[in-house]
Amino acid sequence: MIPPIANRFVAGENIGDALDVAASRNERGLPVILNLLGEHFEDKSVAKSDRDEYIELITAINQRGLDACISIKPTQLGLDISEEVFNGNLEKILEAASEHDTFVWIDMEDHTTTDATVEAYESAVEQFGGQVGICLQANLKRTPQDLERLADKPGKLRLVKGAYKEPKDLAYRSKERVDEAYRSLIEQAFRSCDDGIAIGSHDDKMIKLADELAAETDTTYEIQMLMGVREDLQYALAEEHEVYQYIPFGGRWKSYFYRRLMERKENLLFGIRAILGR
Ligand code: FAD
Repeated sequence: MIPPIANRFVAGENIGDALDVAASRNERGLPVILNLLGEHFEDKSVAKSDRDEYIELITAINQRGLDACISIKPTQLGLDISEEVFNGNLEKILEAASEHDTFVWIDMEDHTTTDATVEAYESAVEQFGGQVGICLQANLKRTPQDLERLADKPGKLRLVKGAYKEPKDLAYRSKERVDEAYRSLIEQAFRSCDDGIAIGSHDDKMIKLADELAAETDTTYEIQMLMGVREDLQYALAEEHEVYQYIPFGGRWKSYFYRRLMERKENLLFGIRAILGR
């Protein structure tokens, strides 16, 4: 059992917990993206075990008739071991997802994984069509070229600011510069994609920009936000937009929870207040 403080950000340790939270969000109008927590596996059997848990998850989502898709991490499926292991595990998940019509997102990790992740996405959409999406990070200087390369492929593109601290020569590091790059990436996406754009952000200014561009270009887009972050805003936006909540779960929840607590003063205060019972 995860403690009550952590369950604001993490659904629980097993598939049943994740599906219960997914059902509660669906009831309030939010489709969800389920992510089994795990990354940087160096052991093939651990990567295979997460692959199999994702396949079980896909079946379970469909048995319960939930409005849910999944999001995987390349190094969780073995990219640190080899591209072959990663691609083999991803293909098995995509086969199961395609049988059940479940959408699969590929999260983007640090810059050392970008080439392999983009290539895996290209093969995935070639084989499985538009049932796959990839995340692109505005902080990386290469991303406008990646977006151009992927814009007319059939899948979806999730645009985010970028969560990893990257080398200065490869990435923007100041908040102002990353925000500027993110704005420009959103504009590029609305110029070059007819649909399939996801804005993965809690930033009102970026959502407003996407709204304006969608109206100008007659392009549809979805918003994606994390469980536990600005949930009131998520429900309010869902009145007029398609808003997905990204829901992490699994036994490896501690480091994820710690990251959420440390990234914002208000989250840390929430944690301290919960511990003190106030
Ligand atoms: P920020 O400028 O960080 O925040 C904007 C405003 O939102 C803040 O002023 C604050 O009011 C609020 N806010 C933001 N975060 C929090 C918080 N944790 N608690 C409370 N308030 C907050 N990154 C990757 O590198 N790879 C991925 O695959 C990836 N997938 C993602 C999927 C989803 C669905 C989302 C939402 C994010 C993902 N990210 C990913 C993370 C992303 O790169 C950013 O690090 C993260 O979203 C914070 O940036 P922001 O756009 O919300 O803007």
